[in-house]
Amino acid sequence: MKCQKCGTELHEDQKVCIACGTRTIRGDNYSFGDKEPWRPTKNHIIGAASVLVLLIVLLIINAMRADPPKVVAEEWFNAMTQRKVKDARKLSTPDLEENLQSHGMDLMAISEEYYSDITSNGGSVKVSEPKPAGSKSTLSVDVSVSYNNGEPARQYNLEMVKVGKNWRMNKIL
Ligand SMILES: [Zn+2]
Repeated sequence: MKCQKCGTELHEDQKVCIACGTRTIRGDNYSFGDKEPWRPTKNHIIGAASVLVLLIVLLIINAMRADPPKVVAEEWFNAMTQRKVKDARKLSTPDLEENLQSHGMDLMAISEEYYSDITSNGGSVKVSEPKPAGSKSTLSVDVSVSYNNGEPARQYNLEMVKVGKNWRMNKIL
């Protein structure tokens, strides 16, 4: 086989002329190794867009879903036992603080008490499954605090109310 441009004698399988670099008949479909830059196809774009839409929908559903009351009660206690009063406040109604104040207490003082019982002394908290308490938007939840040797330390009964779609700690009964 001869090069079509310069006439150099080439091997039958030669894809490029060794003398002038012109492609031979064999080399017509030959890529020189520098690949085409990757470009997303229409399917790639549709696929990526679908995944994105699905993610957004899941995020919205997740944001709209209210936590079950037991989870709220557990989170409230966890925040309280770690003296994270700000976090606890987000999970309670303003009524809770008024209720506490009328008993000469406040969230901070109770949080200190829980902190000393549980976080400092290795005690544990057990939150019961909240039970209906009179109305559809009221629940009662029992919380027991145990010392690190397993002996019961304190027992609390709290009222939870539904505020919008969320359950919130409302009162220490
Ligand atoms: Zn040539």
